[in-house]
Amino acid sequence: MAEYKRKKRPSRGRRKRRRQRNRRLLITLLCIGGIILIACLGFFIVQRARAKEEARKASLMDPLAGAPPLDVELLTPNEYSRPELALEEVKNVAIHYTANPGSTAMDNRNYFENLKESHETKASSHFIVGLEGEIVQCIPTAEMSYATNERNVDTLSIECCHPDETGQFTDATYQSVVHLTAWLCSRFSLDPSKNVIRHYDVTGKECPRYYVQNPEAWEQMKKDIQKQMKTISRTS
Ligand SMILES: [Zn+2]
Repeated sequence: MAEYKRKKRPSRGRRKRRRQRNRRLLITLLCIGGIILIACLGFFIVQRARAKEEARKASLMDPLAGAPPLDVELLTPNEYSRPELALEEVKNVAIHYTANPGSTAMDNRNYFENLKESHETKASSHFIVGLEGEIVQCIPTAEMSYATNERNVDTLSIECCHPDETGQFTDATYQSVVHLTAWLCSRFSLDPSKNVIRHYDVTGKECPRYYVQNPEAWEQMKKDIQKQMKTISRTS
């Protein structure tokens, strides 16, 4: 009969040493893993900061980066619609509706222009968004407009055209006002959830009517502006 040697169990001391060796190996591997993770995280943070800085520099060099097409039709300086007062800080963008169903962006721009002759009232807006989504700029963003009462001093104003009495914007107007506001928020480092306001939020006036009567549509607009901002920061 063949003899089988009984395999000898390692001694208790060797087993202990082996456990210690395994533990050290595990700790070393965990440390290396941790260092790699921290290095990757650091690299990711630096890359993000660099991309943000580049986007900021690009927008400084080209203030129109990410802007929708603008038809710049500045008003003649006059005390009734373009007083040429400096807007020292931009803290808000205010959305309005024209309250004149079916009127075009240029109709409204020309109404503001004619105030220099008619002296009927003091009124204007930085931008007017038309029924086809066209955007007419009436006042440079460095100057004050007469649209948002006590917030004129630190607010950019956008008037929106609308086809009927409900005050709801057409799809084209909606897309343009969202794009325009998102670009302004990016350019002036504003947060749409706090800094995009309705005329109603300043004076209680029912303006813009549809977005006062339908608060959920207003909340949705601010979300759409936020979403649009992300595409602007990626492309600029
Ligand atoms: Zn208004």
